[in-house]
Amino acid sequence: MSEALKGLKEQYLRCVRCGQCRSVCPVFEVVRNETATPRGKVFLAHLLATGELEATSQVQAQLSRCLLCRSCSKECPSAIPVHQIVTAARAELAEKTPSPTKRLVFKKIWARPRRLALAARLTRTIQALGLDRLGLSLRMLPPGFALPGRLPRRPAHTTIPAINPAIGETRLRVGYFLGCSTNFMFPGVAASTVAVLSRLGCEVVIPPELKCCGLPQLASGEAAAASALASANSEVFRLLKVQTVVSDCASCTVALKETPEFAGIKVTELSELLLELVTKYSPGFRQIQKPVTYHYPCHLSKAQGITEAPRDLLLLTCRDFREMDSATDCCGSGGTFALYHYQTSMAILDKKIAAIKKSGAEIVATSCPTCIMQLRHGLARHGYKIDVVHSVELLEKSFEHETLL
Ligand code: SF4
Ligand code: SF4
Repeated sequence: MSEALKGLKEQYLRCVRCGQCRSVCPVFEVVRNETATPRGKVFLAHLLATGELEATSQVQAQLSRCLLCRSCSKECPSAIPVHQIVTAARAELAEKTPSPTKRLVFKKIWARPRRLALAARLTRTIQALGLDRLGLSLRMLPPGFALPGRLPRRPAHTTIPAINPAIGETRLRVGYFLGCSTNFMFPGVAASTVAVLSRLGCEVVIPPELKCCGLPQLASGEAAAASALASANSEVFRLLKVQTVVSDCASCTVALKETPEFAGIKVTELSELLLELVTKYSPGFRQIQKPVTYHYPCHLSKAQGITEAPRDLLLLTCRDFREMDSATDCCGSGGTFALYHYQTSMAILDKKIAAIKKSGAEIVATSCPTCIMQLRHGLARHGYKIDVVHSVELLEKSFEHETLL
């Protein structure tokens, strides 16, 4: 049995099967099957740990039905870290019943920056030739492949310098962790992050040697690969001697904050840092005029317990901010969950899309690239013309004095 699963024994034995977690699990709400409940997953992990259940592909399939959204861990009266138990059980399963495809994707490609860049280039070529659309229409590709949309021609790391000076007086030296999704799918978000931080007096350093944060590897059971990535990234930041590290991806931020390899390195959530700087230095900006709502990513609200800073920033920069219903509910993305469980993911997403529509907002802001991808996909499926942006892009717009949304 893996050390991680063994180490959590005390935790899963504390489950009193009260069922409180069932009411908050977005997957159970759709699937309505006891094995899909958080306590069902804890029980499966327990049986796996005691050897009463064999590590099989069926068990793997059951435990893959988790977004790692942490709603259950937050709700559990016994404070059981269900997401950690599921992650440890996945590591055990990956060890005992390895999937060559997952290993290839998460360990051999995603964990190696050059190969990942090559894979992104290949994806762009496939998209340019229309082969992805053909594959989707002939059902040779799973429907989740439509989610990332068209990849931009140039990733952020090829256009943004490694060192970006502060505009005016340098108040802070910040290390920017440029995550894979922002880099390859949303280079405009990276540009806005750098522009806003520079404008607020930060020198922004983007180390070119950075690798993936390790979260996709951890979620897919490749714990050793995740740890190696965290070690390599932490070494880079230690040598840089920056005052703090930030990322515009809520998931990368959690990965950096929680990994033991980052002990001693200060990681600040981006909206908290921006709010602090905006409050302290009161830069001039004009308010966004269109109605705006905000989707709280699970890795921001549940994993980091942060809700006030992103909302307060929007209240400052938007004339008409509207909180949507159940704004902290999961959007159903869960990293790669939507790829494996597309229908379940879309059923979870539909609820979020209905809340956005009901809010009357014309712009949805959020703080996680995979949430942006998921929300855009959901809005397009329903034919709603509502923009989805990262909140740092809105802040940058409000700093501009001519073109306002
Ligand atoms: S809420 Fe916690 S204690 Fe109750 S069933 Fe779920 S995991 Fe077990
Ligand atoms: S982490 Fe989220 S999806 Fe997974 S069991 Fe808990 S509530 Fe359900």
